[in-house]
Amino acid sequence: MPRGIKDDDLPWGKVAAHSYETYNNFIIFFLVCHAEMNAILNERHTTLDDCSIYVSKFPCCECAKLIIQAGIKKVVFSELKPEPWEEQVPTRKMFSLAGVTCRFVLITFL
Ligand SMILES: [Zn+2]
Repeated sequence: MPRGIKDDDLPWGKVAAHSYETYNNFIIFFLVCHAEMNAILNERHTTLDDCSIYVSKFPCCECAKLIIQAGIKKVVFSELKPEPWEEQVPTRKMFSLAGVTCRFVLITFL
């Protein structure tokens, strides 16, 4: 959760537990700070220009915009999302236009 908000103060998931948590009948939340956001915003000592970011899942659209704006040029991810491939298209298009390369790396644990 954003600073100052306790982890249990707001829902983490994308589905509302109560009807009062809906907005215009949408029950999708974007309240949690994704790991990409935390990594970028917490880096305060050096520039991120031309850096790589290592994440577990392929970034969402919001994180893709942050990655591009931060100057990061390479995204390495290790898990395929269960969501439909079509949901990744906007992120892939933005990365392509901005010159950000993506690489999937399979990590196995023994
Ligand atoms: Zn994200």
